[in-house]
Amino acid sequence: MRTCIKCFAETDEGAQICKKCGSKEYFIEKESKIKCPSCGASNSGDNKDCYSCGIHL
Ligand SMILES: [Zn+2]
Ligand SMILES: [Zn+2]
Repeated sequence: MRTCIKCFAETDEGAQICKKCGSKEYFIEKESKIKCPSCGASNSGDNKDCYSCGIHL
């Protein structure tokens, strides 16, 4: 999850622009990240399964 610091809308991980205000430049990544032990992908903290390889985190 990413948060627009301009309008504070939350936007899906991987989205290129804020879906509310359309800004490209006002995203911050939330701090909580889980690194997948299998493939090393950086998953958001509320992911139960790796978005990349699908293993249970
Ligand atoms: Zn926005
Ligand atoms: Zn993985």
